[in-house]
Amino acid sequence: MDILCASVRNDLQNNDTPTAVSKIKELLEDQKNIPLNIAITGETGAGKSTFINAFRGLTDGDEGAAPTGVVETTLEVTPYPHPNYPKITLWDFPGFGTTKFPADEYLKRVEFEKFDFFIIISADRFKENDVKLAQEIQKMKKKFYFVRSKIDNNIHANERMKKYSKETTLTQIRENCVQGLKEQGVESPQVFLVSSFEPHLYDFSLLQKTLDKELPEHQRDALLFATSSISLEIINKKKAAFQSRIKYYAALSAAAGGAPIPLLYATIDLSMMAAVVTEYVNVFGLDKPSLERLGANTGVPYSDLCDVMKSSLAKQKIDKGQIMKVLTSFAQTTVLQATGEAAKWIPVFGIAAGMSLSFCTTYTALNYFLDTLAEDALKVYERALSVNK
Ligand code: GDP
Repeated sequence: MDILCASVRNDLQNNDTPTAVSKIKELLEDQKNIPLNIAITGETGAGKSTFINAFRGLTDGDEGAAPTGVVETTLEVTPYPHPNYPKITLWDFPGFGTTKFPADEYLKRVEFEKFDFFIIISADRFKENDVKLAQEIQKMKKKFYFVRSKIDNNIHANERMKKYSKETTLTQIRENCVQGLKEQGVESPQVFLVSSFEPHLYDFSLLQKTLDKELPEHQRDALLFATSSISLEIINKKKAAFQSRIKYYAALSAAAGGAPIPLLYATIDLSMMAAVVTEYVNVFGLDKPSLERLGANTGVPYSDLCDVMKSSLAKQKIDKGQIMKVLTSFAQTTVLQATGEAAKWIPVFGIAAGMSLSFCTTYTALNYFLDTLAEDALKVYERALSVNK
């Protein structure tokens, strides 16, 4: 990063703006294109496809969603690229017990090298086949995680019992799975109890947190942006990751130029800004389909979720005109006055005096958009969870 700043500074000081622009664009593009391949395996009916959709914040029937409930016949591996980050792919594998291949052959056939980690799903206790596969994955020096799916079914079934405690039910299922795996020779297995219908409950966010911790650093933001906003921690992490990129967009807007904004006396790259704000909306899950899905999962009506949002940004398609409108309205207030925070980057990038107003305006405006949308994401999340308390 620092190397990039220094090299951009050098280009700008030598009046080579096009090179500076292409370097920043390349960095931002590279960040969007970090590959991440996640293998999901388990018996037919274990809940793989539903998990894949919930992980990415999709439901069955959404564009790009994995079809669920399909009977499978061959060792076909189906890739599900993330709709917004196509280099991030979840791969749906048939459970290896349903194929005629031994575990090592199975892994060879699915080209295990390309996967960053494996998730082994079962709707019940883990069976001999799950364990064989895990052991083989371990031999290949890859990481694996056990996911016990459809936890909501167990919880709802136990709710009918007289002496019911949710915590006791969850502890029993967890101990049962861990014990079963240990007996079959897996040392300290990690088991996550998940409901893909209610990903904001149980261990879904713990799984995401664990993956985040155990992935190499350069892949962490990729995973973070591709996963649904199902905990406060994830929302805050997304915000921090986006925040750290704003200086590059501001430098781009300053160097590449754009449309003059009335009253602001700065030129801004409005299309770039519209694309960035759209990414914020999508990654925070504030777009209409995501909110409708959250509403369906939690039982909170879509309109109630919309009502808690302060910003109108997420409620309509974000284009240049809309960004322009918000920026112009700022110009009449004092919101967009360049802050010391923005100005500190000017010497770092070597932004010339003539471009500094564009830099500071873009920087401050993007921070404003990000703060507003992150706050909305937190409010929506809290509202969605309020019914489960
Ligand atoms: P796959 O064959 O492993 O891909 O399994 P699917 O995802 O198609 O799921 C099989 C069935 O289990 C479908 O009817 C799903 O709706 C259901 N299912 C999947 N995950 C869950 C879950 O978390 N909770 C409940 N209650 N049902 C689920």
